[in-house]
Amino acid sequence: MLRTCRALCSQASPSPGGWQPPNFDGGAFHLKGTGELTRALLVLRLCAWPPLVTHGLALQAWSQRLLGSRLSGALLRASIYGQFVAGETAEEVTGCVQQLKTLGLRPLLAVPTEEEPDSAVKTGEAWYEGNLRAMLRCVDLSRGLLETPGRTGDILMQLKITALASTQLCKELTSWVRRPGDSLELSPKRLAEAMDSGRDLQVSFLNTEQNRHLQASLSRLHRVVQHARAQHVRLLVDAEYTSLNPTLSLLVAALAVRWNSPREGGPWVWNTYQAYLKDTYERLRRDAGAADRAGLAFGVKLVRGAYLDKERELARLQGTEDPTQPDYEATNQSYSRCLELMLNHVAHRGPTCHLMVASHNEESVRQATKRMWELDIPLDGPICFGQLLGMCDHVSLALGQAGYAVYKSIPYGSLEEVIPYLIRRAQENRSVLRGARRERELLSQELRRRLLGRGLRVPH
Ligand SMILES: Cc1cc2nc3c(=O)[nH]c(=O)nc-3n(C[C@H](O)[C@H](O)[C@H](O)COP(=O)(O)OP(=O)(O)OC[C@H]3O[C@@H](n4cnc5c(N)ncnc54)[C@H](O)[C@@H]3O)c2cc1C
Repeated sequence: MLRTCRALCSQASPSPGGWQPPNFDGGAFHLKGTGELTRALLVLRLCAWPPLVTHGLALQAWSQRLLGSRLSGALLRASIYGQFVAGETAEEVTGCVQQLKTLGLRPLLAVPTEEEPDSAVKTGEAWYEGNLRAMLRCVDLSRGLLETPGRTGDILMQLKITALASTQLCKELTSWVRRPGDSLELSPKRLAEAMDSGRDLQVSFLNTEQNRHLQASLSRLHRVVQHARAQHVRLLVDAEYTSLNPTLSLLVAALAVRWNSPREGGPWVWNTYQAYLKDTYERLRRDAGAADRAGLAFGVKLVRGAYLDKERELARLQGTEDPTQPDYEATNQSYSRCLELMLNHVAHRGPTCHLMVASHNEESVRQATKRMWELDIPLDGPICFGQLLGMCDHVSLALGQAGYAVYKSIPYGSLEEVIPYLIRRAQENRSVLRGARRERELLSQELRRRLLGRGLRVPH
């Protein structure tokens, strides 16, 4: 079976001389300008300062009042926005992506949206229809960034389902999905048929308004995936809270029936699995097996998970069992097991199974590269790596230089749209930003070396 994978996955082969551990010592920083490194160091230092993250939105409003929106906007553009966001216009995004490409990195565009509409303007179908238009434009932009028309399978984009369907509806459906016994009303097949045919789907436990919103949401999802498929863009659906995830997975399963079928040659729709949840390994094993048996292609973005504090707080408030792993070490073990499962699955199934190792964790990345070599999986085949724009460049650059497929998750949009989104993401990822200590040390080291004029570092 391994041979099948080798034969089917063309492109670069693993290094013949043995496994070369990627070097994350900051050597790859030689590819970046001094200005970029200085900004990265300053911004990562700022983000490690808890009050900035906690009171980010208030500080932004305060600086606007004090400095005026022009000056405060310019400051943000030169700092946080410039570090983590590709820009506002298609030209700015294209410029940022071109720069990444020269460094051996690929774009994974993400439309920044908030999962909880927080103002009256954002409620109702209009807000979701606006998000749909933004996502269709994002598909076009992702496609437009491709330089070599032949290699269409490489284009990936993130998709947040709660930008197209309300969290309220997702919570309602989740409570039904969780009930014991199969609900035929909510089977992936039935949802897939409704999406494909555009026919009305009446779900007995939803009221008229909820049914209408479900119908509109299914139609939006169908339109995004249809367009993405036509443009050869693979959609990576984000995982969110456990109160929503069962519905998100159900919708992905419904989309997979149509778009990951053998005639489509996918996977065009991937799901995200969060290793910090206790039940993730079992779900991943079950879903991978089910896709295999159904003859469907299977795509996975494997992450640790971003909503730890909120999940625990919610479980505490509701008096239910904490769904997350007890500590960081347990999450690491879970990630490692899920990774091993998926790597074996890819080796077994070949290019009908894809995996993104979406992590900044050096140990996880090292494990993936080592096992890829042992399992004879090509470097730029069905496994890729993902990191956030502006984070852990020492990992991304080293992987890209070694020939692995590396994507940077890139939010884009205006300052007004993106800053609240960034601040909320920073609040969810406090531990990650605090943990960027090693990156800050490597950046300082490289800047000191340049300032003291200690010759060029020999690139690996
Ligand atoms: C390309 C990309 C896409 C992403 N998409 C999603 C997504 O769809 N959904 C999503 O939820 N997240 C997503 N994330 C974020 C991801 O889940 C992590 O929050 C982030 O990447 C940090 O984890 P790490 O593996 O990079 O690094 P590390 O710094 O090694 O791990 C930090 C993570 O470990 C876990 N952790 C920390 N402390 C504890 C503790 N005490 N107990 C238990 N676990 C702990 C948490 O998950 C924390 O985020 C994405 C990240 C990337 C790079």
